[in-house]
Amino acid sequence: MTRALFGFLLSLMIVSTGPVAHAQTESETPEWRIVIHGGAGVITRDKLTDEQEAAYNAALEVSLKAGSDVLREGGSAVDAVQAAVLTMEDDALFNSGHGAVMTAAHEHELDASIMDGKNRDAGSVAGVKHVKNPILAARAVMDQSEHVMFAGQGADDFAESVGLETVENSYFTTERRKKALERVLDTQSREDADRHGTVGAVALDKDGNIAAATTTGGMTAKAPGRIGDSPLIGAATYAQNDVCAVSATGHGEYFIRVGVAKTICTRVELAGDSIAGAAENALGQVAELGGDGGVIVMGGDGQYAYVFNTAGMYRGMSDSTGAMETAIFEAED
Ligand code: ASP
Repeated sequence: MTRALFGFLLSLMIVSTGPVAHAQTESETPEWRIVIHGGAGVITRDKLTDEQEAAYNAALEVSLKAGSDVLREGGSAVDAVQAAVLTMEDDALFNSGHGAVMTAAHEHELDASIMDGKNRDAGSVAGVKHVKNPILAARAVMDQSEHVMFAGQGADDFAESVGLETVENSYFTTERRKKALERVLDTQSREDADRHGTVGAVALDKDGNIAAATTTGGMTAKAPGRIGDSPLIGAATYAQNDVCAVSATGHGEYFIRVGVAKTICTRVELAGDSIAGAAENALGQVAELGGDGGVIVMGGDGQYAYVFNTAGMYRGMSDSTGAMETAIFEAED
């Protein structure tokens, strides 16, 4: 099958099943809100036990609570997305810190990015192996350096120099990911759950600022040195006040080529698209090229959308009205 035909068939799938979108109406605009994802590479429903499903929902709630606590107290959107991502980095259920997937060289290389919509400050790290929490390193790049992005050893050294905790690379390893690596190396094929992971958050604070953050271990058995979309501002992460904030998860090579996060915000700003419409357009482009994944999007006024073209996406939202929701599969909204 040619690439063009494959892309066309995928885009038909999107039209026929539609990327899953869930959007709020303006009347529901809250004082503050946080929306999170824990990756679009979910296990199919028949393979996820009730206990696993409950564990994922509980972990999403822990993350939502961490972000909500910041926002309720009048903290900033950027602090909230950092707090929400941090709990998922520490939770082995997700592919972003402890419990991250392994490279083909049996190591972990992590990527993270964060962006403050208030002034479009941004920071990111790529291919870090030792900083315990990559999102804190990305934040430090934003706040404590004159740069936007650090990679590899230099990024780990920078994180250490600003006092962030570092760990042996084996800290990130779990039995589950070791087995997944062996399976992928043996079969040379990745199941959905091996291909995707990544955590992310977008938030609106009481001052009307929005922010976005994303962290990943990447894809199981990725080549050492391979960098995906997650640390790239404009690909997986973007935030601009009064426009939108995005965190993406999916097959990074395609998200980079579409520039998914910035494409969504540009369509909202210049084409007048709804946030869900802009996200569907960007994911449609990803699908045309042969990729899949999902995004969480927040408008400048706190409206939000989950859009994905995979079997599911771990996701959730909580806000100042007391609403709190989590979901995994397609039909749960
Ligand atoms: N986007 C990540 C990457 O390509 C993986 C994912 O989100 O699942 O590294």
